[in-house]
Amino acid sequence: MEAKKVAVVGGGLGGLTAAALMARGGCAVTLYERSKHLGGRAQTSDVEGFRFNLGPHALYRAGAAMRVLGRLGVKPQGGIPGQSGAAYALRAGRLHTLPRGPVSLMTTDVLSLPGKLEMARLLASLPRIDPDTLAHVSLREWLNTRLSRDDVRAVIATLARVATYCGDLDALSAQVAVTQLQLALEANVLYLDDGWAALVSSVEAVARDAGVTLELSAKVDGVVIESGQVQGLRMGDGTVRAADAVVLAGSPGDVSRLLPEDTVLAREAAESTPVKAATLELGLSRLPRPEALFALGIDGPWYVSVHSAVAKLGPEGGAMVHVMKYLATPDTEATEAELEAVMDVLQPGWRAHLVARRFRPSLVVSHRIPTAKSGGLAGRPPSEVPHVRGLYRVGDWVGDEGMLVDASFASAESVERALLRHRHEEPRLAVGA
Ligand SMILES: Cc1cc2nc3c(=O)[nH]c(=O)nc-3n(C[C@H](O)[C@H](O)[C@H](O)COP(=O)(O)OP(=O)(O)OC[C@H]3O[C@@H](n4cnc5c(N)ncnc54)[C@H](O)[C@@H]3O)c2cc1C
Repeated sequence: MEAKKVAVVGGGLGGLTAAALMARGGCAVTLYERSKHLGGRAQTSDVEGFRFNLGPHALYRAGAAMRVLGRLGVKPQGGIPGQSGAAYALRAGRLHTLPRGPVSLMTTDVLSLPGKLEMARLLASLPRIDPDTLAHVSLREWLNTRLSRDDVRAVIATLARVATYCGDLDALSAQVAVTQLQLALEANVLYLDDGWAALVSSVEAVARDAGVTLELSAKVDGVVIESGQVQGLRMGDGTVRAADAVVLAGSPGDVSRLLPEDTVLAREAAESTPVKAATLELGLSRLPRPEALFALGIDGPWYVSVHSAVAKLGPEGGAMVHVMKYLATPDTEATEAELEAVMDVLQPGWRAHLVARRFRPSLVVSHRIPTAKSGGLAGRPPSEVPHVRGLYRVGDWVGDEGMLVDASFASAESVERALLRHRHEEPRLAVGA
C-alpha cells in the first residue's frame, strides 16, 4: 500500500508531535513552518548566557504531554520546584507564607483559623472530585457554592490561576481549574534544563528519525479543497503541494485564514478568547535573597519564580527569574514597571545584579479559554474538522483533553488515531469496490 501523504502546517510542539506520530504510523509526512526555526511558543533564547523561555514554562508531570512524550521515547530533563526554599503569597505589597502544604497552611496569616480548616478540608477532598460534573459551572460559581469564606476563595483562585494561567473566574469552567489542581497535587511540574527548546529538539529528532521532512521558512497560504475533500496546500510562493490529509497546527485565526471561505472556521476563531500574560525574564549574577524562590499574588495577578533554582538555565551561581502578570481580558497589557515592582518585593536590590532582561507586554499563553458557557473542555473544537474530509487541527485550543501544551500533545494524539483509523479503513473499501 502506498503511504498516505500528510502535510502538517506549523512546527511548534503540537505540529512536530503530530508529524512524528503519523510518520511512525507509516504516513509520508512533510511539515511546513513559516519561521526560520521550529518550536513556536516553546522557543528558548540565549541572552548573555541565560536561557529565556517565552515566559515561565512548566510541564505537568501527570499530564498528556508526558504520556505522549513517553510513547515517543522522550524523557524531559529538569527539576521539580517547591521542594526547598521559601514560597510567598503577595498581598497588599507584602510577603506572607503561601499556604501550599500542611505546615504552611497552619503558619500562614493570609487565612483565618476557620479559613485554614475550610482550606484543609477542600485540599483533602480535591482528588475525589469528578471534574467533568463541573464542565458547565464557572470557577466563580463553584468557589461561591463550595466554600463559605472569602479568604479561602482568594487563595484557591490564586492556585487555580497559576495552574490554568487564566484569571477570568466568570468565564473559566471549574472543570478545568479542578483538573489542573488535581494534576498539580498528583505529581507537580518540571522546569526543564536548557529551557523548552531542549524538548523541541528531542521531538524534532524523533520526527526526523521517523522520516518526517521538515521545511523551514515555508509559509503556507491556503488549503486546497475539491468537493469537500482536501487536495493539498498552496504555498506562499504560489506552488501547490499535494496531500491526502492536512493537519493545521497554528492558532484558530491561522486556521481560518488558510480557508477564508469557511464560515464555520471563521466563527470558531471569532469565539476563541485567548489567555494572555505579560512577562519579564531576568538573568542575575546572584540573588539578593537566595532562599526566596517563589511568590504568587493573592490580591493581584502576579507570579514570580526562580526557575534556575531547580533547572539548568544559566551560569553557575546566577539566577534566571520569570516574573509575570496574568492579563484579565485579551486587550489589556502590563507595564514593565509593574512587573519590576513585584520583583522588588521578593528580591529587593536585584537591579544591582542584573545581567540580562527581556519584557513582553502581551503574549498568547493559550488560544482559547475553555468556558463554562461552552461546556468546558468538550466545548473546544474537535481535532477532526467534521465538514472537510482529510482536514485536522492540533493545538492548545483543540479537543477535550488538557490545558496549555497538554492540549497540543493530546490533540496530536487524537489526529494520529483518526488518521491511522482512516488509513486502515481505505484498503478494505478499495477491495470491496
Ligand atoms: C508566557 C507563556 C507561558 C506559558 N506557560 C506554559 C506552561 O507553564 N505550561 C504549558 O504547558 N504551556 C505553557 N505555555 C503554552 C505553550 O507554550 C503552548 O501551549 C505550546 O507551546 C503550543 O504549541 P503549539 O505547537 O500548539 O503552538 P505554537 O507553539 O504556537 O506553534 C504554532 C506554529 O505554527 C506556525 N504557523 C502558523 N501558521 C502557519 C502557516 N500558515 N505556515 C507555516 N507555519 C505556520 C507558527 O509559526 C508556529 O511556529 C505558555 C505560553 C506562554 C506564551
